[in-house]
Amino acid sequence: MSRVIDQAITVVSAEHCKGCSLCVISCPQECLGLLTSFNSRGYHPAHYRGEGCTGCGMCFYACPEPAAITVYKKGAEYPD
Ligand code: SF4
Ligand code: SF4
Repeated sequence: MSRVIDQAITVVSAEHCKGCSLCVISCPQECLGLLTSFNSRGYHPAHYRGEGCTGCGMCFYACPEPAAITVYKKGAEYPD
């Protein structure tokens, strides 16, 4: 199932994230943070706080891990 979203959403794959914080620093909306929990590699993964994303893509381009961040822009198909 998927739906067309009317607001941008950023999704972080916790298992691909190495907790470097580059996405957190790069986000102009300050809508990313690091979790206090650990992933299986022992890193605190980044996560989207749930609101404020504009779909600008800054976090995606800042991230050194190719599979860690997906940005869904407004009007995109979002997998439910
Ligand atoms: S796409 Fe832009 S606004 Fe959205 S989380 Fe990434 S840096 Fe922040
Ligand atoms: S930039 Fe990528 S690897 Fe670094 S904390 Fe953000 S999602 Fe994780």
